Amino acid sequence: MSGRVEVNCDVCSGSDSVELLALLGNAYHECTNCGLIYAKWISSAYDDVNDAAFAAELDDYAAKVESRAQRNRRKLKRFDRYKTTANFLELGCNAGAVLVAARALGWQTKGVDISSTAAKFAREKYNLDVHTGTIESAGYADDYFDVIYSNATLEHIQHPLSTLKECARVLRPGGVLYVNTVNWDSYTRRILGADWLLIHPTHHIHLFTPANIKSLCHYSGLKHIKTWSTGARVQANAVDTTFVTPWYLNLMKGPLSMLTRITNKGDAVEFLATKE
Ligand SMILES: [Zn+2]
Repeated sequence: MSGRVEVNCDVCSGSDSVELLALLGNAYHECTNCGLIYAKWISSAYDDVNDAAFAAELDDYAAKVESRAQRNRRKLKRFDRYKTTANFLELGCNAGAVLVAARALGWQTKGVDISSTAAKFAREKYNLDVHTGTIESAGYADDYFDVIYSNATLEHIQHPLSTLKECARVLRPGGVLYVNTVNWDSYTRRILGADWLLIHPTHHIHLFTPANIKSLCHYSGLKHIKTWSTGARVQANAVDTTFVTPWYLNLMKGPLSMLTRITNKGDAVEFLATKE
């Protein structure tokens, strides 16, 4: 078994933090300067841990390429207005479901994924142009992409600041970065705490809030456009089999989901940023 390394805030390099939640021999800390929430210890073989987690779910992810095709095309329609170069990048492209949908809509697609299993699958099965590794190591040209899309990835990324700085470099002026990630500030996290499905410091090493997203954009040189949040699914972590979601929480999901539209306290937080 490999070791682990202690980390400080990746965004502002601040070492002052408060411990928010301890679990699995690890702890989430909040940077007192910029508000980033991060797992205090990361595996020294993090890429391998990440790849093994993807490989274990490969069949599930692969099935979604077909089953989610229509839904993904619908979600991507909102980016039509940014199409100039038609260059589209997905950060954390997984098995390729979004890129296949984007290609069908006329985008010239590229993807990056730190999981070699994911990247290889997307290349071989769907003939997609996918780089294995970080966006920083892909070497894309300046001002190249109209759209950089990222779903359920930022929470896994070890260096969100250099990642977003690189996004800023390769986006064309007026292009957009779209991110969907885990919302620490959600009703579900407040209700379930460490029992929430998405609270897992081995894999979700950074967690976001509407406030720390703004400072992340600021530090990376991107202009924040808007943040929004939806959904309160109140899903417990299946790893702890002793935990049962109380019945009344299931009744609260509907009303809470509606409230998230005004309070930004949904399970996922999404944002759009641009390059000036
Ligand atoms: Zn910080």
